[in-house]
Amino acid sequence: MIIEIDKIPPEGLKISKDFEFFNADIIEESAVFLRSVHSELFIKGIGEEILIRGRIKTRLSFVCSRCLAPFEFPVDSKFDLVYLPEELDVFQDKLENGEINTFFYYSYKINVKEVVLEQLNLTFPLKPLCSENCQGICPVCGKIIKEGECACVRDDSDPRLEKLKTFMKDKR
Ligand SMILES: [Zn+2]
Ligand SMILES: [Zn+2]
Repeated sequence: MIIEIDKIPPEGLKISKDFEFFNADIIEESAVFLRSVHSELFIKGIGEEILIRGRIKTRLSFVCSRCLAPFEFPVDSKFDLVYLPEELDVFQDKLENGEINTFFYYSYKINVKEVVLEQLNLTFPLKPLCSENCQGICPVCGKIIKEGECACVRDDSDPRLEKLKTFMKDKR
């Protein structure tokens, strides 16, 4: 969905649309979309500066990076973006103020679907976890460690260290 900058009405443009993406489109390639990405966007031009205020909602199935179990990951994200004409991208370093996300539009066009995809990718965690305190997989039996799931004794003390301790005791 391409928006032409010079066709944005003075009062702004409201867009409400569901976008379909494939998991190959997103940075989290093992994720599966459980529904399309509902997007509410308001686009307004102030001179050559284009402001985009938006909200995106969707649900994905992620794979936990510790226990490898699938879990649902809801997305409900709001954002405020500023798009500037391409001539200004040489000043990108000077525009970084940390507060507002500044982007650039090229050939007087903005691809709304790309804007949504970019913002969607920003909502993903670096290491997806099914829960903050996920214990991962048992190194003994390979099962997911959850209460009562396995009865293995996970002793991570080094047997050589035990031997050394005994040795030291004998010396005393
Ligand atoms: Zn997990
Ligand atoms: Zn186990």
